[in-house]
Amino acid sequence: MNAPDSLRPSLPALAPLTPHPEPGTAPRIELGLPADWSSGFAGLAADPEEPFIRPCDPSPLQECRFLAVSDHAAALLGLDAQAIMQSPEWLAVLSGNAVGRHLQPYASVYAGHQFGVFVPRLGDGRALNLGALRGWELQLKGAGQTPYARFADGRAVLRSSIREYLCSEAMHALGIPTTRALSLVAAASPVLRETVETAAVVCRVAPSFLRFGHFEYFSSRQRTDQLEQLARHSAALLGCGDSGNRTPMPASELALAVLTEVAQRSAKMTAQWMGVGFMHGVMNTDNCSVLGLTLDYGPFGFMDGFNTGHICNHSDHHGRYSFQSQPQVSLWNLSRLANALYPLVNAVDPLNAVLEHFKSNYAKEMEGLLKMKLGLQQLPEDQWGPLLDDFYSLLQSQGMDHTLAFRALSNQDEQGFSDLAPDRAACRPWLDRYQQAVSASLSLQGISAEVRQEQMRAVNPKYVLRNWIAEEVISAVRDHGDTGPLQSVARLLKNPFEEHPESERYAAPPPDWAQYLSVSCSS
Ligand code: AMP
Ligand code: MG
Repeated sequence: MNAPDSLRPSLPALAPLTPHPEPGTAPRIELGLPADWSSGFAGLAADPEEPFIRPCDPSPLQECRFLAVSDHAAALLGLDAQAIMQSPEWLAVLSGNAVGRHLQPYASVYAGHQFGVFVPRLGDGRALNLGALRGWELQLKGAGQTPYARFADGRAVLRSSIREYLCSEAMHALGIPTTRALSLVAAASPVLRETVETAAVVCRVAPSFLRFGHFEYFSSRQRTDQLEQLARHSAALLGCGDSGNRTPMPASELALAVLTEVAQRSAKMTAQWMGVGFMHGVMNTDNCSVLGLTLDYGPFGFMDGFNTGHICNHSDHHGRYSFQSQPQVSLWNLSRLANALYPLVNAVDPLNAVLEHFKSNYAKEMEGLLKMKLGLQQLPEDQWGPLLDDFYSLLQSQGMDHTLAFRALSNQDEQGFSDLAPDRAACRPWLDRYQQAVSASLSLQGISAEVRQEQMRAVNPKYVLRNWIAEEVISAVRDHGDTGPLQSVARLLKNPFEEHPESERYAAPPPDWAQYLSVSCSS
């Protein structure tokens, strides 16, 4: 007997794909690179009906010029930043005006939960993958429409590209897992947002750009075969599951191994975000990296004056992605990944066990990090909890600058700490208790006060990419064609834990003009 139509599981309806430049449309040029490029999805046997990727060429931009090339990111690829900056061929390739002779760029398909709502097909709408070099994938963001561009233009504006370039490299320097940025190219071509702006292209670099949404897509299409391929591909990238040289692990075990590793990495990354006061701004599942990297920099922010409910994204009207929500959202996103993997596991309890473990794992990561940040590794448990709670209550009630508060404690600068509070006297009781805790912890640890200070400064940055700093850099480039501030801020944020007397002003809270800066999803 056939099931009535109403009982048949129905697949989500998909919109038609966007017209896009066909492969071979862009000029091919010689880059003089080693020929060991490979496709990030190489080895996955795609179904022509439901492929993981679709080839697509970039669309040209006018009057392109390099604004920056990261020497650290270039070194990962065995390349030299200066040589790239001076090469017309590299400029053409990294702006999407040409394609390296042996490459065929492609866009990948994924789905995702955006602000809690499932969208059955998103995909790389404005990201084009060039291939992988030395195990690093290169991806152009803003090089034009792809099959997954839907109604949008495939472009990225200058301001958001500057923010992504700077923050990718800054997060890496803070020791936080992230996609990297090789280059930032500006163009004269207009892009329409709320006003007319100009286009830019960032070349991102990562071992893989796999997202939770890749799993969600194939799971929702009921393609268990493709889901298993993705799980095997991810397991190899994550270094979990079988190593491929004995009998392959059953799919259920493999899926659990993948989820476990992703959850562990997500717990650590989220704790690190919280530790530096970073807010991602759009923690949709399509922006969640399977490798546990900070991915897709949009309306992100670093906390200035502490407010645990702070919402950095002006478009996030209900505060779904506020600062304090991030650990909970991270777990919710993992539960979406678990749900997507269910067809491989066919049992709920083991998936739930991994999610349950995330909670204790996150708490452990956070506690370890905060003990280092406050220099109290050896404090007895019964003293730690109340001292920490009261610390955050003080930051919150006084709206103290998050970065500078931790930094002042690292320098044992009680005066500097109190100066961050409008009511300086309100800090005294907590500082007295903290001093006692420091003495108790120091004697148990057996280290000198100087060594402790050094250890604290190595985990409490002096410089983070505050919105006002990004805004100043953007304005210099956009309004005056001046890349000086971009270069000095990029240099500064490479060593955020060190003192830079010549750049002291970048350690400051927002100046008056920047009190009410807002960033939105528009990019
Ligand atoms: P985001 O909110 O930036 O993570 O983007 C969500 C989805 O929209 C992703 O699939 C993006 O690739 C796509 N998207 C965002 N902006 C554009 C654009 N200007 N052109 C094409 N696709 C876009
Ligand atoms: Mg995105």
